[in-house]
Amino acid sequence: MVDAEPNKAAIVVMALGGTIAMTDAAAGVSPKLSAAELVAAVPALSGYPNLSARSFRQVPSPHLTFADLEALASAIGDNFREGADGVVITQGTDTIEEAAFALDLLLDANAPVVVTGAMRSPTLAGADGPANLLAAVRTAASAGARGLGVIVTFNDEIHLARHVCKRHTSSTAAFVSPNTGPAGFVAEGRVHIWSRGVGMRPHVEPSPSPREARVALVTLSMDDDGALVALARDAGFDGMVVEASAAGTARHGPPGS
Ligand code: ASP
Repeated sequence: MVDAEPNKAAIVVMALGGTIAMTDAAAGVSPKLSAAELVAAVPALSGYPNLSARSFRQVPSPHLTFADLEALASAIGDNFREGADGVVITQGTDTIEEAAFALDLLLDANAPVVVTGAMRSPTLAGADGPANLLAAVRTAASAGARGLGVIVTFNDEIHLARHVCKRHTSSTAAFVSPNTGPAGFVAEGRVHIWSRGVGMRPHVEPSPSPREARVALVTLSMDDDGALVALARDAGFDGMVVEASAAGTARHGPPGS
């Protein structure tokens, strides 16, 4: 599907911080640019007269909490009720995979919600933030992106939140959808969608009290003695997810058993 409409769409860019907003590479962890400054740095966005910018958080993305995401989902819903056609979220890439998936679960909207960020800060040669933001806005303004759930547009590729993974710590091509490939691409200003995803999109009702349960995530490795599982069990968590090998295999009992 190709959407070459000139853009009168009402798009809201909501900024949460991350490398895309970092002004001083040496400082490393200080996202200072506001949503308006991110938008102003991309001349082509002046071609979207109904675009507005809102700073929501200014943090490195590992600082984001589930409460932040629930508040973001609620603010996105408000934007749609006020007439937005699409929403773009800019944030740090370290938790884009998790944040996009959580938003996909929490939101029920048909209109596009597109998450992006940058691997290189604005002070570095070849900064990818402006191109990613422009491609994300184009995706959010595209009729073809409606009904896809939350999307991650990065390095001109369009990924569905329920499939996307961050697979590289420094490459500008950091995001992949391992089992499906991308759902589309942005090329020469046009949004091409060739897959609408497979399977159900589960929905989770926003919680009245986020973080009401604490769940431990424990990864087992080869020759693991299970000590972390025992520690997590005794530490008062409400639940535990154990990541083991293949389909969940782990050794039972002492070494050699
Ligand atoms: N540490 C940064 C963050 O996730 C990395 C990035 O934005 O790429 O906020």
